[in-house]
Order: sequence, then C-alpha cells, then structure tokens
Amino acid sequence: MRSVLITGASRGIGAAAAERFAANGYRVFVNYNRSEEKALALCGRINAGGGSAYPVRADVNDREAVRRMISVCRYHGGGIDVLVNNAGIDFYGAFGATEPQIWDDVIGTDLTGVYNVTYAALPELLQSERGRIINVSSVWGVSGGSCEVAYSAAKAGVIGFTKALAKELGPDGVTVNCVAPGYIDTDMNAGFDRQTVEDIIDRTPLCRTGTADDVAGAILWLCSESAGFVTGQVIGVDGGFM
Ligand code: NDP
Repeated sequence: MRSVLITGASRGIGAAAAERFAANGYRVFVNYNRSEEKALALCGRINAGGGSAYPVRADVNDREAVRRMISVCRYHGGGIDVLVNNAGIDFYGAFGATEPQIWDDVIGTDLTGVYNVTYAALPELLQSERGRIINVSSVWGVSGGSCEVAYSAAKAGVIGFTKALAKELGPDGVTVNCVAPGYIDTDMNAGFDRQTVEDIIDRTPLCRTGTADDVAGAILWLCSESAGFVTGQVIGVDGGFM
C-alpha cells in the first residue's frame, strides 16, 4: 500500500486531497496544526469507509515537531511515497501593514514549512519505488498579487524550490511538481465580499470559482503513473484565470 503525507489536511484543499488519495487506496497521514477535531473527524470518516488514515499533528514551521511527525509516519506506515506540501496561510493587506511578525509567519509556514517537511521526509521518499512531491503554490506565486506581497514571495519561492529539486531528484526517480490554484472556495477566502468574488469569476474563462476537489484531482493525477514523465512543472488549476 502506498502512503501519502498531506500537510494542512484538516480543512480545505488538503482535506479534499486526503479523501481522494484514500479512495484511491493510499494510506493517508493527515497533518494538522490547530484543527484537531476536523482532522480526527476526517480520519474517522475515511477509516469507517474502509480506508486507512492517521492524524499527525505538527506545525510545519516547527522543525522538531516536523521531525517527530515523520517518525510517527514511519512507525505506522513503513514509509512515505508521496508528500503533498499543502499547509499554508495568507495575509491580505498593504505592504506597509506587513509587519515583521506577519512576514515571518507567512514565509515560515508557506516556504520554510515546505523546506522543513521535505527535508525531514526525504530519506523516506528516496526509499520509495516511485517517490512523488507535490507542492501547492498559487497563481500569485506566478504573477504576484497586489496586497499579498509576503504570500506571493513565499509561493514564488515554492516554484523555485520545486524546479530545482526536480532536477536534483530526477535521477533518483522522484518527481517534484507544483500546482498553482486560482480562487478556490475554502476558509482561506472567507473574508472576500461577494462583489470581489464576482469580479474574479468575470475574469475566469470557465466562469466559476474552483473547488477544493478541483485541486485535489490535479494533485492525484500528478501522482499517477500517467504523469510519470512530468517533473519540475507548475500546473495551473485556475479555470484559465492566468
Ligand atoms: P484553508 O485555510 O482552508 O486550510 C489551511 C490548512 O493549512 C489547514 O488545514 C491548516 O491546518 C493548515 N495549516 C496552516 N498553518 C499550518 C501550520 N503552521 N502547520 C500545519 N498546518 C497548517 O486553506 P486552503 O485549503 O485554501 O489552502 C491550502 C493551500 O492552498 C495553501 O497552501 C494555500 O496557500 C493554497 N492556495 C489556496 C488558494 C485558495 O484560493 N483557497 C489559492 C491558491 C493556493 P489547521 O487548521 O489544523 O491549523
């Protein structure tokens, strides 16, 4: 049985990915930080449906917690074949309001968190016959988003990280790719008013916002045998927005 570790899987895109991987026969490690009840409920649902899911708590910005989390995965599953670096936070506000602590939190979670988990999980991924790393970036990592400078910088960093690591790990048979979602209906966007959402839909050729499952589908595909010759790529999941 292949195992997947999904960071930030208690809610939103990560939770949808957990359901998809479980339905496709993966053992799923559901990482969470604050939303313990949601992570436990998700694992309960998957296990009740005949799947295999374990909740694993760690703040991705805490190296020691991440190291412990990887040990727990090793203990329960015997390895990690797929790592989905999905955990993320956003800060929407003017650059002048991006105080040092906000900058540190966003870069720490969205970029350093990707480094922390990938670094700790690398020995497991290298032992897999078909290791896969999927990083969740954003359209703003490609084009830059006004009033989201820290977030855009972190997500652009994730793209550079992906391309470089793909070159390095290719000879080991590990592919490394990114998805770059557009506007997806999750808690992260709960603060946007209806008019802003309508404006985004107007600028989206597929005339709707995305769902967490839209992104989960692309992530799962990147882990399939059909995507075996795809690495170092940034796959837009944005309804054509870019
Ligand atoms: P949500 O806010 O719905 O969920 C965020 C998830 O990240 C939660 O499970 C949360 O866990 C987890 N998380 C946050 N901080 C940490 C941390 N320090 N350590 C571990 N887990 C953490 O967001 P989405 O599902 O929308 O976002 C998922 C990813 O997709 C993010 O990387 C985001 O930047 C990216 N994205 C989202 C877009 C969107 O429009 N929604 C667009 C483009 C990219 P917990 O609650 O347990 O703390």
